Amino acid sequence: MSEFKVRDNELSELEVQTLIRAAITARDKAYAPYSEFKVGAALLCSDGRVFSGCNVENAAYGAGICAERGAAMQAVAEGSESFVAIAVVGWKDGKSEPERGLAYPCGICRQFLNEFTDGRMSVYVARSITDYEKNDLASLLPHGFGPKNLED
Ligand SMILES: [Zn+2]
Repeated sequence: MSEFKVRDNELSELEVQTLIRAAITARDKAYAPYSEFKVGAALLCSDGRVFSGCNVENAAYGAGICAERGAAMQAVAEGSESFVAIAVVGWKDGKSEPERGLAYPCGICRQFLNEFTDGRMSVYVARSITDYEKNDLASLLPHGFGPKNLED
């Protein structure tokens, strides 16, 4: 059973903290030997399932992939194509909480996530489970291009 009650895209404080905690756990798995900037993401889908991802770098730098797209790929591969919220954390090891910045999704990830939302997806960027900012994807990707643009 999911720990999340998905209703009208609003999460309780406890649910937000659970999602951020999952992102922090995913961050621990990040493969970032080049930048040492480890990112974790936890993606909540409308069916209540959560998929996580971490950044995976590559010696051929351009071949790496972000945590957010890693999580999204997992979700789609498991049959979840309706995204409700994502939590993202990112910092180098050894950073204390006040030293951590907020790791917003990059432009490519914003576009990638936009494919699987109704425009009301919440994006939580966090330094810890209690220190975070809530955004909605539409504000991070104004006038985003999506599936509706291809409709006749
Ligand atoms: Zn990205």
